Amino acid sequence: TQYVFRFGGGVSDGGKGDKNLLGGKGANLAEMASIGLPVPPGFTISTEMCTRYYEEGEAFPDSLRTEVAGGIAHIEGITGKAFGDAADPLLVSVRSGARVSMPGMMDTVLNLGLNDATVEGLAQVAGDPRFAWDSYRRFIQMYADVVLELDHGRFEEALEIAKEDQGFYLDTELTADDLKKLVVEYKALVEELWGKPFPQDVHDQLWGAVAAVFGSWQAERAKVYRRLNDIPGDWGTAVNVQAMVFGNMGETSATGVAFTRDPSTGANAYYGEFLINAQGEDVVAGIRTPQYLTRAAREAANAKPASMEEAMPEVYGELARVFDLLERHYRDMQDIEFTVERGKLWMLQTRSGKRTAKAALKIAVDMANDGLITQQQAIARVDPSALDQLLHPTLDPEAPRDVLTKGLPASPGAASGKVVFDADSAERAAANGDSVILVRTETSPEDIHGMHAAKGILTARGGMTSHAAVVARGMGRPCVSGAGALSIKAADKVMRVGAGDSWREVREGDILTIDGSTGEVMLGAVPTVQPELSGDFAALMKWADAVRRLRVRANAETPADCRTAREFGAEGIGLCRTEHMFFEGSRITAVREMILADSEAGRRAALAKLLPEQRADFVEIFEVMVGLPCTIRLLDPPLHEFLPHQEAEFEDVAAATGITVDKLKRRAAELHEFNPMLGHRGCRLGVTYPEIYEMQARAIFEAACIVADRSGKAPVPEVMVPLVATRRELELMKAVVDRAAAAVFAEHGSTIDYLVGTMIELPRAALRAGDIADQAEFFSFGTNDLTQTTLGVSRDDAARFLSVYVEKGIYARDPFVSLDVEGVGELIEMAAERGRGTRPDIKLGICGEHGGDPASIAFCETIGLDYVSASPYRVPIARLAAAQAAL
Ligand code: PEP
Ligand code: MG
Repeated sequence: TQYVFRFGGGVSDGGKGDKNLLGGKGANLAEMASIGLPVPPGFTISTEMCTRYYEEGEAFPDSLRTEVAGGIAHIEGITGKAFGDAADPLLVSVRSGARVSMPGMMDTVLNLGLNDATVEGLAQVAGDPRFAWDSYRRFIQMYADVVLELDHGRFEEALEIAKEDQGFYLDTELTADDLKKLVVEYKALVEELWGKPFPQDVHDQLWGAVAAVFGSWQAERAKVYRRLNDIPGDWGTAVNVQAMVFGNMGETSATGVAFTRDPSTGANAYYGEFLINAQGEDVVAGIRTPQYLTRAAREAANAKPASMEEAMPEVYGELARVFDLLERHYRDMQDIEFTVERGKLWMLQTRSGKRTAKAALKIAVDMANDGLITQQQAIARVDPSALDQLLHPTLDPEAPRDVLTKGLPASPGAASGKVVFDADSAERAAANGDSVILVRTETSPEDIHGMHAAKGILTARGGMTSHAAVVARGMGRPCVSGAGALSIKAADKVMRVGAGDSWREVREGDILTIDGSTGEVMLGAVPTVQPELSGDFAALMKWADAVRRLRVRANAETPADCRTAREFGAEGIGLCRTEHMFFEGSRITAVREMILADSEAGRRAALAKLLPEQRADFVEIFEVMVGLPCTIRLLDPPLHEFLPHQEAEFEDVAAATGITVDKLKRRAAELHEFNPMLGHRGCRLGVTYPEIYEMQARAIFEAACIVADRSGKAPVPEVMVPLVATRRELELMKAVVDRAAAAVFAEHGSTIDYLVGTMIELPRAALRAGDIADQAEFFSFGTNDLTQTTLGVSRDDAARFLSVYVEKGIYARDPFVSLDVEGVGELIEMAAERGRGTRPDIKLGICGEHGGDPASIAFCETIGLDYVSASPYRVPIARLAAAQAAL
């Protein structure tokens, strides 16, 4: 097996199709080299080697040593320098690179190949001793940090002291001699902390770095990242070894990161940052404030330091040509790292850029409109779940806000929550159901779990491409970074904002609002407004609607939810849970009277009070949904849910209903169930107390007739019976509904079309779907209950242990979130087949939570359901997922 793949100097052993083998970075370096872009020569050690490394107890086979020697020779041949040569040394960078970018892993070691001898050679060749010694001290510091994992604070400290000794502020003020002394101190520090001297043999340096990259694959934070992002542990990482180019060789050198389009907004404008006379990580680390790439961006930000376009017009022009070429080649927005060494441009990385949902949408639509990709490709490009970010409210521009300070708008969206100062607290608070804003001086990969748990992220340091900004954008969390007025004391759980006499204090638990679109940080919770759903969103949705086969409905029961659902494009109501209406206002009293009644007559008297209220609800809903199908489910939950639970409540209810507290308590005790999920609920209520369903059916039909008269357009009620297990149950309930319909139509002197159907949410119903279909004009799969009853896992208690099940790979994902296709899915598929066997035109839908989950929707497409129904905010997600499933 070949483990080493070369690139550069006209050679490319791989290309962009080889991501699994070479990792994303390695594959794209090879690709760039093969299309003639200026890439420093190098080689990639494949991910297969990583796997083998672990299989063989963290050791390298001898054959690898030979192959790596060949790789080094390749670089030497092109550069004319030799690795370890004291006169003209070759220096390399070593970087990790998995199939997908993983911020949890070891990133980069630069300047590898420097030692006490080669540093002198470098000083000679570069004609710049200061540069050589600065490179050496950077190398020791980086190597000590990422390879040897020594306390980097000690090195920072030594650097600070060196500067203070001279009264300097900037690293750049240190002279060659200062740096030489610092190198001596650094080497002593390594020996003190590591117990061995800093490796002088360049080959030892290289193998140490390679082992560190492979080792970082199994580091704790990499594992956390993989778990959060569903990345399999057996993929492994590749290692990229590449000739160094220097952005810190004076004023004609620079280094930068860029996106070919704006990753926050998607605007078609180059976007990025660069630093003159700086090396790689300086830009990301936020130590010096980077400069803008384009003049337009600089002017928009009202910034002084010259943009790259102004400072280095020629190289900038070349860079712009490379951007355009890369976008046309990859047909996607690219995220790029580059270095300029003494006026010559070098490309160090390209990859598809991470972007916000807003940017993803805009870029996909723009590229399709420009003919760079097809409309179908545009549909496939946007992650449906990411739309969530766009559909949620933003800060009400009219609302008063107490602005504490302003940082960089690093990841859009608004979030409010309690302040926490560390990732573990964020995770704990979120587990308790609190919304939190994670506030850090800067974030690092160790904070990922806290960033995930937080509603928003705020940092005092770091630019638009800092760790916090990049990770937050990827996760879709609003983020404000680089809010320099914050001084954070995480240990004391407090921060100060501002300086002088006007500073203010914010403590853990105080409420903060951040706006990741403007950078504003506000004290207290600021009210929000609904998002704009036009423009690119509307365009992509239109394309999606044209290709999808599945209809998309909403689960909604209030007129407001119904309106939201329609705005989001719902084509009907898939589930109106009528019980939610029973709790509103004065109705709960009538509901309780109904439950407490001793006789049918007593129940009917209470139901008569509810009838006009239910009818009014349905009228409102039908008016919003006019002409569209509306599935209305008859009462489902166990009756005890409507009774009071606390002493004070009992007294209130007694006063309101005129029933004694004693009697109330007796009835509550009678209604108590050991397992209410499997108790007296669903159609079992209708079987025992048909008058309840009769009242509801009457309310539905009366409302339908009223709306038909008013609007001239009849709604299409689909009356749904819950928790059916047998044909006979449905037959009885259908008779109740049909009788109510006949009575209402006779009174009203006209008829409207309606359907009667059932939920399939019990395994027996799925098994007997063939004969149930004889009574049902439609099935709606209630996958919440069907999951709980098929798995024998209570949906209310599952959260306590399901995460362990997912961690151990028993279920790939939480089966209450994403359909257990193998198990529950088989029941659904079978029920659909059997139902169609009896009634070929039976309407089939799904209304459990899964109706809004893209993977579950894909399954619904494969078995040919007619529609999915999701909560209003997930309707657009479902529309896009349904389109992707149909492609
Ligand atoms: C279901 O069980 O999937 C369903 C939609 O009903 P509910 O969640 O109301 O039980
Ligand atoms: Mg149910």
